[in-house]
Amino acid sequence: MASNKYKVLIIEDEANIRNFVKTVLGTNGYQVMEAQNNGEGKLLFLSHVPDIVILDLGLPDGDGIDFIRMVRRDSSIPIIVLSARTDEADKVEALDCGANDYVTKPFGTAELLARVRAALRIHHQNMDRGIEYCKKFSTGNLEINYELRKVTVDGSEIRLTPTEYNIVALLAAHAGRVMTYSEIIREIWMWNDPGSIKKLQVNMANIRKKFGARPGENQYILNELGVGYRMNTEM
Ligand code: CA
Repeated sequence: MASNKYKVLIIEDEANIRNFVKTVLGTNGYQVMEAQNNGEGKLLFLSHVPDIVILDLGLPDGDGIDFIRMVRRDSSIPIIVLSARTDEADKVEALDCGANDYVTKPFGTAELLARVRAALRIHHQNMDRGIEYCKKFSTGNLEINYELRKVTVDGSEIRLTPTEYNIVALLAAHAGRVMTYSEIIREIWMWNDPGSIKKLQVNMANIRKKFGARPGENQYILNELGVGYRMNTEM
């Protein structure tokens, strides 16, 4: 096993979920520290400086959101939130407070590992070169050439409007992580109004149509209902 293991801090009060995360990550080469509540989590965070945090939102001594706010005062380390299926508003709040991604309970080994890998990869890319885009992006048969502002699927150019292109390029720059509706709207239109989500959805429907997305195929952009969109990197 590599000696420079990533240190993961899991903060979760449910022992079976904590143990599951610990086992999965431990057997995949990560060094795992565990905390059962906000207080323990904060102490471990400050004393051991983990590379990534996996955080439950409902903790016995307070809300996980408090932990996110504390970390974001002076750290950009990735935080993945664990949340229940029904808590869309909590997920959005956590993401808007600075969490990088979320996993919905119950989750499996592959999903957990994929999210952790993506969060660490995006974090290191951002550290290496700001959030400057690289020249090309590809996932599955989709390719984006940022210099030419050109998108191809299976080698055929997809004609996008400037706004549609900007949305696709933005999601690709954050590939693998979910972007909330308000994050996308802020980046693309620089403003927010009650009609803006509708506008985003209309653009997204057109993008998916142009990508030839039918249910179950060409899912380059995943719709995370009630939360936002994610560029799929697991194709
Ligand atoms: Ca809990």
